[in-house]
Amino acid sequence: MKRTLIEMNPFKDEPQDLKKLQLKQCEEVINSGWYVLGKNVLEFEKKWAKDCGARFGVGVASGLDALEIGLRSLKISEGDEIITTSMTAFATTLAIMKVGAKPVFADIDPSTALIDIEEVSKLINKNTKAIILVHLYGRINEMDEWIKISKLNNIFLIEDCAQSHLAEYKNKVSGNFGDFSSFSFYPTKNLGALGDAGMLITNNEEIFNSAKFMRNYGQVNRYEHDYIGLNSRLDEIQAAILIERRKRLVEFTERRQKIAKIYNEQIKNPDIKILALPKSIKSHVYYLFVINCHKRDKLQSYLYENNIQTLIHYPIPCHRQKAMKNVAYEFKNLKNTEMHADTCISLPCNPIISNEEAEYIAEKLNKFKG
Ligand SMILES: *Cc1c(COP(=O)(O)O)cnc(C)c1O
Repeated sequence: MKRTLIEMNPFKDEPQDLKKLQLKQCEEVINSGWYVLGKNVLEFEKKWAKDCGARFGVGVASGLDALEIGLRSLKISEGDEIITTSMTAFATTLAIMKVGAKPVFADIDPSTALIDIEEVSKLINKNTKAIILVHLYGRINEMDEWIKISKLNNIFLIEDCAQSHLAEYKNKVSGNFGDFSSFSFYPTKNLGALGDAGMLITNNEEIFNSAKFMRNYGQVNRYEHDYIGLNSRLDEIQAAILIERRKRLVEFTERRQKIAKIYNEQIKNPDIKILALPKSIKSHVYYLFVINCHKRDKLQSYLYENNIQTLIHYPIPCHRQKAMKNVAYEFKNLKNTEMHADTCISLPCNPIISNEEAEYIAEKLNKFKG
């Protein structure tokens, strides 16, 4: 029997009952006659902020906008430097550049692919205003150390949580450690809408108020604009969909963790490196399951021949993107980042695939000869 392709994001195979409930939510919004920034947005903001253990949430149009709006609320602008990782979705870097600040990249720890705190400490100077931590692939960073380094240097700590919904560190959830954090609900994320959506989370009332104005043309009262804002309003249909999908998030996260457990236990090929295990499974929500292999392209074709789809996160680190060519800054000492970009590959790890499919993938990986 020919196996059908095991996909990275098999949305079409999501549970039927979930599809029906989402349709019902859409119908209710259509019948309500209120489509942008309404009661569903408010409800979802409250619920998601609470899930993160934070006081405030501001629904916006995307993860990118949540970052940009947050940076503007902190009054970060031209001449300011922000330290982050080059091994991330380009949106992280783009948000920094959109407010006119300068992205400064610190190298990663090759065992986790997360930004290396020692490298960061070398880059902090009088222009440094913030660190943006990316909880890459779903794994939350060692927050105590990051809080310490930001306090010590009197700089903002920002969490890019686009990949880390519900990842725990010492019984607190990602998004609740920094001055603000940004979430994306792009469809592939652990909690995804059926289109673009995002949220800014914060415990700081000033940032909260500013972000609310900023997402709506900087408008403080109807037709009164005190800030240079964006149009980044969340719509009611996406918020209603997110309210529904949020109810499955714990169950879906546990499925991702189970698939990851199968990979972690069963992949035993000396040519394949598995990223270091987290101390607790709860601190990794496995948005992506990433391995490294020096024969990455050969491995990718081999897996595809065996009906296993893979993707690469990320083949071109931010500092190598053409859009960065006019940023007058020399990027050095990013060897681990570059090595990771050349060797990383993401395996299917989602709530839809079965244990048996994950076991099949592990078995095929074990038979691969590099
Ligand atoms: C997806 C993602 C973003 C951007 O989110 P959008 O909603 O697509 O704008 C930012 N940072 C990281 C780490 C991401 O994975």
